[in-house]
Amino acid sequence: MRLVMKFGGVAVANGKKINAVADLIKRIREEGNKELVVVTSALFKVTDMLHENAIKIAKEGEIEHAKEFVAQIREIHVRVAAEAIADEQILDEVNAELKDRTGDLEKVMIGISLLGELSARSYDYIVSFGERLAAPIVTGTLRSKGIDAVHLSGGEAGIITNEEHGNAQPVPGAEDAIRARIIPLLTHGKVPVVTGYIGETEKGITTTLGRGGSDYTATLIGAAINADEIWLWKETEGIMSADPKIISEAKKIPYISYREAMELSYFGASILHPRAIEPVMDKNIPIRVKNLLKPDDEGTLIGKEPEHTEKVAKAITLIENTSIINIAGSGMKSISEVAAQVFIALAAENVDVIMISQGSSERTISIVIDGSQLNRAIDAIKKVNSSGTIIRDFTSNSNVSAVGVVGAGMAGTPGVAGKVFSALGNEGISIRMISQGSSEYNISFVVRREDAYRAARAIHEMFEMGNE
Ligand code: ASP
Ligand code: MG
Repeated sequence: MRLVMKFGGVAVANGKKINAVADLIKRIREEGNKELVVVTSALFKVTDMLHENAIKIAKEGEIEHAKEFVAQIREIHVRVAAEAIADEQILDEVNAELKDRTGDLEKVMIGISLLGELSARSYDYIVSFGERLAAPIVTGTLRSKGIDAVHLSGGEAGIITNEEHGNAQPVPGAEDAIRARIIPLLTHGKVPVVTGYIGETEKGITTTLGRGGSDYTATLIGAAINADEIWLWKETEGIMSADPKIISEAKKIPYISYREAMELSYFGASILHPRAIEPVMDKNIPIRVKNLLKPDDEGTLIGKEPEHTEKVAKAITLIENTSIINIAGSGMKSISEVAAQVFIALAAENVDVIMISQGSSERTISIVIDGSQLNRAIDAIKKVNSSGTIIRDFTSNSNVSAVGVVGAGMAGTPGVAGKVFSALGNEGISIRMISQGSSEYNISFVVRREDAYRAARAIHEMFEMGNE
């Protein structure tokens, strides 16, 4: 088989784990999967460290802090490389690369501390170092086990994107570019190790695909090279019917459709990057979420819509920290004009709207957003009235959670919503807002935060989720 495999986060937390990952890659290759592309994300927590320190260093302007931080990053990677790579000569080569790359990181960190400012472009360049430093280590580990591995940055692998820093999208020519870079390596028996998460504009400027973007890198490559399957390796069973930390009866879902998986990831389940499904859907390339702790387990298979679904409601997901904002129009404008102004203002402040509902007779709209974005949202809404009174009044409540019930044909099957709401009624939980039918795969609602777990459990049980 031709496979793309992605490793990230805890899978590459230390040298021992990277070693185990390399052994696994070796074994999968020896089992007859000769054409393998490896996508790596940053070592565990490194992207977060880069993110936090870039902001801090730009703000404080301390060159010493910049240098100390880079020294710390260098030290982490040198230590992990030494744990992972047995061959002395290869280790020397990798250390030289790490020195070089952390040198580049130091230059930009000092740059931002002098400027006292962090542009979207420098930010992307800085956070890309997590993957840039991980890739040589993974490659060196594979090489020291006799595998002919080579590392490539996202740009070198053909992930050419637009200039939208922080959330870049591949340009139409990217597929051809990926094929042109990757296929010859495979033909020559090499294992390309590609940095996940990062791309490059046509001018060669580094961009990133959004947090968790390594999944997206893997599916972009998989689609471009017509892989047989894409395997996303995690340290979990696969995709679960609910978060097992909240619902202990949660079980692995063996099969889930592309749309269901998309719906889940958009609704807060951190199983994969929300856009990762898009590239492979039309080509029907299966994605498997596999468990590193049980590598022979099938994991969860994500694929095309089955003809018949036995189960309408497959999984439940929860965004705990949300805020609901109720906006009353002034009556001067139609409710759709009010909504238009509000959404433009929210978009300008980069606020992601999770749910929307509109009561046309009362001229009100309610929107649900991530709780961490509430201040930005309020600022945005206040600005709407700068050119005349469009909004009469607005209120917000942060003591709420959003719950999403996901499954094929949810909204299309009569009685499902009724069942959902009677499960809540039995528990005496009142619903603040409902959104149904926007997608056939999701019924979502908002409850008081203190009721959220109970609501999730009641529905999980009502639909016997997790029992295939
Ligand atoms: N390292 C990046 C992040 O933490 C990308 C990824 O892990 O997929 O968001
Ligand atoms: Mg990461």
